[in-house]
Amino acid sequence: MYIENWDTQGIEELQSKTIKQLQSIVFRKRIGHAYIIEGAKGTGKTKVMQFFVQLLLCENSTKSVPCETCRSCKRLKSNNHLNFMQLEPDGQNIKKAQIDDLIHEMSKTAMETGRKIYVIYHADQLNQSASNTLLKFLEEPQSEITAILLTDRIHALLPTILSRCQHFSLASMPQSLLKQKLVEEGITDSMASTVSKMTNQVEEAITLAKDEHFGLARKSVLKLVEASGKSVQDALMCIHEDFGPLLKEKEQAEQALDLLLFAYRDIVAIKASAIAVCTYPDMIHYWQQAALHTTYEQLSKHLEMILHAKENLHKNMNRTLMMEQLMLNLQEGITFV
Ligand SMILES: [Zn+2]
Repeated sequence: MYIENWDTQGIEELQSKTIKQLQSIVFRKRIGHAYIIEGAKGTGKTKVMQFFVQLLLCENSTKSVPCETCRSCKRLKSNNHLNFMQLEPDGQNIKKAQIDDLIHEMSKTAMETGRKIYVIYHADQLNQSASNTLLKFLEEPQSEITAILLTDRIHALLPTILSRCQHFSLASMPQSLLKQKLVEEGITDSMASTVSKMTNQVEEAITLAKDEHFGLARKSVLKLVEASGKSVQDALMCIHEDFGPLLKEKEQAEQALDLLLFAYRDIVAIKASAIAVCTYPDMIHYWQQAALHTTYEQLSKHLEMILHAKENLHKNMNRTLMMEQLMLNLQEGITFV
């Protein structure tokens, strides 16, 4: 079972609007059966969920803030509250059997009295049959059960599930402000530009900027874009020479594809405006050349192909083959230099 450190520190300031809405729900005792908390990486979805759960279960909250000391608060923080269950993807996705188990646990009567809550992390990764099973459960709401779904890809959820849930969208910090904070922390302008696109949270962005693997991924992806601008052979060679370590884990492969997507978005942005804010300002001269030699139509196809490759990642496709295919697709009739 998923174990996430209980940490709600700073969330009342970071997501004050959503927190106030959740406090009002609990205060007015208008507690719903299902919620979705969505937001980009680093916006604090887990912390918001934890604050909400703690407030819902706290036996002694004052001014709509959990007391931190009651039995319920303590149990949540030590991860052994019997009325709170957490579910995360098992490998590539969330399977029907996992939802069956969850429903079974939720339907048991032997738990503590009071409300039961379950949270589903990465709810966008529910597979079709798991979605349908969950939907049935949501359609027969039981008064004392509340579901909380977390996602950073809300559009990947079934509309029928979305329509059963109350939505909370978490606000992102403006990228320029985040970047400024990172530069103040001693991170180079080019790295700050990149990591502030990958996450919306200062600490996470700093960790990423200092992470050796991420530095390598960034370098390899830029090398690949240049290689792909030369010839398909160069691109394929780059995949074989540099991408082995980037494709081992699904998360890393997804990150590499995001980095690649941002590279092509830079070219689109530069094509539209010479003073565009780039993810890779260190590549600006190359982007300018690339922008001259590609049409919007070609660039839009490139972006589409990369997004398609990202979808294939979730389908458990062989990652090296997927990258090779992507390079062939990107290559069609396009060389910059
Ligand atoms: Zn409490």
